[in-house]
Amino acid sequence: MRALITGGAGFIGSHLSEALLEQGHEVLILDNLSTGSIDNITHLKGRPGFEYFIDTVTNEPLLAELIDRSDVVFHFAAAVGVKLIVEQPVYTIETNVHGTEVVLKHANKKKKLVVIASTSEVYGKSEDVPFREDSDLVLGPTPKHRWAYACSKAIDEFLALAYWKERKLPVIIVRFFNTVGPRQSGQYGMVIPNFVRQALAGEPITVFGDGTQQRAFTHVADVVGALLKLVVEPKAIGQVINIGNKQEITIQALAEKVRELSGSNSVIKLIPYEEAYESGFEDMPRRVPDLTRIKGLIGYEPKHQLDEILTQVIDYFRKK
Ligand code: UDP
Repeated sequence: MRALITGGAGFIGSHLSEALLEQGHEVLILDNLSTGSIDNITHLKGRPGFEYFIDTVTNEPLLAELIDRSDVVFHFAAAVGVKLIVEQPVYTIETNVHGTEVVLKHANKKKKLVVIASTSEVYGKSEDVPFREDSDLVLGPTPKHRWAYACSKAIDEFLALAYWKERKLPVIIVRFFNTVGPRQSGQYGMVIPNFVRQALAGEPITVFGDGTQQRAFTHVADVVGALLKLVVEPKAIGQVINIGNKQEITIQALAEKVRELSGSNSVIKLIPYEEAYESGFEDMPRRVPDLTRIKGLIGYEPKHQLDEILTQVIDYFRKK
């Protein structure tokens, strides 16, 4: 099989590229290096069956040609990271909505399977955990830019499902829950790479809010394993599917764990949300996936737990 990965030089896309090549598939990457990095794919250059194109998905002639050459499209190119989203709302909305629109339009010509990367962020402020794919989405008001990200991804989901319903374009929508692991950058606000970098530099570890908010982190290897199985499972087509891990931790406890596992003397410092992001910023207290659907489809069970993830990320930053 030949796969096109938009955003393939990003964190998840680069791990997926590697896994596909290892299984003997061919990979085309289209990435404009906005949040991705050439360093993520340098080691893949020259591998048989691997090609990459540094350009945006809005270069439609190129996009159309690459889709034409592929059997499946993983659409991962998007604006991500809460910090980036809050600071650049226009870019976020335009990139996420328009990018998906053109990918679906061109994939539809020859009915190529499209996997749309969505996010647990779409569940918004809902407190009805664990989140099931058919749960209500509870978003905040439009002046709070965080919700523009959730909303842009929800529109992507609506559009993909509309293409499936109305035009029989095969689509699979995956909602990622706090995917982490080596290669993830802290530059766009993600908590684990930030904490690890701070701990190793002996800088204060910055816990936003009061640190009682909880998250459940998923190793990128579990996500990639699930994606490889989902694209060959016909029952996954036309579905929205959570991919995550249910092991929860508070952000305060996470900071303590990072400090301990990295042998750091950093202090842990609480930073009010309005200082970290913007005034009136709303965070979600808990975010846990219901994994019944993906378990039923492919027998998914996450294999990597938090201590292992943190050890690997610490190791990655040390080498870097
Ligand atoms: N967070 C934090 N310190 C940081 C970065 C993030 O305390 O340096 C918090 C953030 O406010 C949120 C959680 O960690 O409650 C997870 O943040 P992240 O941006 O990684 O993902 P989110 O779950 O918000 O999409």
